[in-house]
Amino acid sequence: MRPARALIDLEALRHNYRLARRLGGGRALAVVKADAYGHGAVRCAAALEQEADGFAVACIEEALVLREAGIRKPILLLEGFFEASELPLLLEHDLWTVVHAPWQVEALERTPLPRPLHVWLKLDSGMHRVGIDAASYADTWRRLQALPHVEVAVKMSHFSRADELDCARTGEQLATFAAATAGLAGETSICNSPALLGWPDARADWARPGLMLYGVSPFAQAHEPASQLRPVMTLESKVIAVRELPAGEPVGYGARFVTQAPTRIGVVAMGYADGYPQFAVNGTPVAIDGRPGRLAGRVSMDMLTVDLTDHPQAGVGSQVELWGNQIAAAEVVAHSQTSSYRLLCAVKRVPLEYRG
Ligand SMILES: *Cc1c(COP(=O)(O)O)cnc(C)c1O
Repeated sequence: MRPARALIDLEALRHNYRLARRLGGGRALAVVKADAYGHGAVRCAAALEQEADGFAVACIEEALVLREAGIRKPILLLEGFFEASELPLLLEHDLWTVVHAPWQVEALERTPLPRPLHVWLKLDSGMHRVGIDAASYADTWRRLQALPHVEVAVKMSHFSRADELDCARTGEQLATFAAATAGLAGETSICNSPALLGWPDARADWARPGLMLYGVSPFAQAHEPASQLRPVMTLESKVIAVRELPAGEPVGYGARFVTQAPTRIGVVAMGYADGYPQFAVNGTPVAIDGRPGRLAGRVSMDMLTVDLTDHPQAGVGSQVELWGNQIAAAEVVAHSQTSSYRLLCAVKRVPLEYRG
């Protein structure tokens, strides 16, 4: 069997959820969209089902996978519905929906339903992606409130730059939110992971932590309380071949690494088709049998190469951690043209093995 795999620590996931909930001071929907950021949505949701207040996914397709697996807690659709014909299904499967665009409001007005649908109305407080404009938010809220088949429950918005801790935009978005929702009864939800960790003023009734659940900091710099997060995924594989090369020899595609001295190269069964970043640079940290090592040469589809010169004891069968408990995912990100979000979401082909 190919030794590449991703170990998923469900106890760490629960630890991170508890931290998110404690920081938020209210309830928290665990965001498990995109297959729980590559960690497996069904297993992650099941591991959190006892204690989570609910879950959030992008769309009904993702929600139905969870319902079919027996997840009973509330599930919010962050992109809402895509056509009015989905609305009865939302009720049937007891799903909550975000409403973020005027056409969705009109669809709700045109579509009578047998029971009230639970709606979170999203404000565009400055990200300018989705959300109702600040000028029409209160009117829209009242229009939905007037519908007997809609229970408009939560005022919600989303930050564009909360991961930049010295950026004024987050404060501006908060002020826009306060002004646009003033006087409207209902609960509030604003925080994603960077806001929960870095912007205490944004805390509200419902938090929506995603990335932090998986134990990865959204910040480029060291940060407290982000340092309390525990990595959930460990991506690992083994050395499957060793080359002893003299000085001046190229390694791998494009000869991106050329030996400067006699060098031992280890070939690891892990490549960009498994989700390891293709553009990780020479020197990107790895752990070889628990000791610090580094990438040497361009990552290929199924393999990558590491420098074993300072690891004389290592050879075929040596364990290599790409990220996880020893190598922070953020360190790999800092050496690659990617983000921590994409790093995790890209993981595929490798089997996921669950612990805890
Ligand atoms: C994905 C998403 C989140 C979670 O964001 P993280 O930065 O991963 O915590 C929260 N809210 C909305 C609307 C989202 O789309």
